[in-house]
Amino acid sequence: MDYQKILDEIYDEIQPELKRGKVADYIPALAEVEKGQFAMSLTLEDGSVYSVGESKKRFSIQSISKVYTFVLALDIYSKKLYRRVGIEPSGNPFNSLVQLEYENGIPRNPFINAGAIAITDALISHYEDEYKTLEVIMNFIREISNNKELSFDQRVAHSEMEHGDRNLALARLMKSFGNFENDVQGTVMTYFKHCAITMNTEELSRSMLFLAFGGKDPISKREFIDRSKAKRINAVMLTCGHYDASGEFAFFVGLPAKSGVGGGIAAIVPGEMSIAVWSPALNKYGNSHAGTLALEKFTTKTGLSIF
Ligand code: GLU
Repeated sequence: MDYQKILDEIYDEIQPELKRGKVADYIPALAEVEKGQFAMSLTLEDGSVYSVGESKKRFSIQSISKVYTFVLALDIYSKKLYRRVGIEPSGNPFNSLVQLEYENGIPRNPFINAGAIAITDALISHYEDEYKTLEVIMNFIREISNNKELSFDQRVAHSEMEHGDRNLALARLMKSFGNFENDVQGTVMTYFKHCAITMNTEELSRSMLFLAFGGKDPISKREFIDRSKAKRINAVMLTCGHYDASGEFAFFVGLPAKSGVGGGIAAIVPGEMSIAVWSPALNKYGNSHAGTLALEKFTTKTGLSIF
């Protein structure tokens, strides 16, 4: 298949959509990002990369980082993790407090904010220190990406903390139900820091390749998680990766994927490739408007989907 031709076609077709939607403005540092930008990259089994648009420009990966922390926590805790976080789609906005109250402080899944904060908390309990935990997360991302330069943006993390009342409230609510073990402020700050990791689409697609190949990176041959756990992570990406638009995303795109409010989406085609797309303007569910459409075009043009 001529992937470059397909990406070039998508790039042309997507232009009228780039100004539609709204950049995330509840995090002031993200509100400054200009609309109208677009990048898409694919990484194949042999390491070949195809890109279009601003694929060297880094952006805030935000909730896509929840995939990495889920991988780390599932590897450590196995099934015990599900005592603290469920695996069902939420059908609610990503930062909703209501469902958490009804369900006794157990977040529906690892990809809504409450679930990801509970996972960060579980990692801090394991590593016994928030700084050590952040270092483990960063080192993991550098290893799966084979890129020692990856880092996070302190300014974005602090900007989120300044407006972090809702996420702090989610953590406190979990604590009131006994589903929280560490210092709330420090844990939520660690969560903000991993959300503030910056990557470009080439780096992001490279980082997800191991999940397209049963947990084993086909280039370095390193197994980062066993096949059965990789299956579960991909399943949760499919069912919960786009918050309350996860059903719609599965319907139109048909791939396990995770979005972030920075406008990025990472997707995998099992046994074939990993894909990253970025366009900062979001739809009403908080997912990249043009990014979602570009992925829909990609699976339609190539026939590559899990269905
Ligand atoms: N750091 C963001 C928040 O907590 C993540 C949300 C997202 O990317 O969907 O609000």
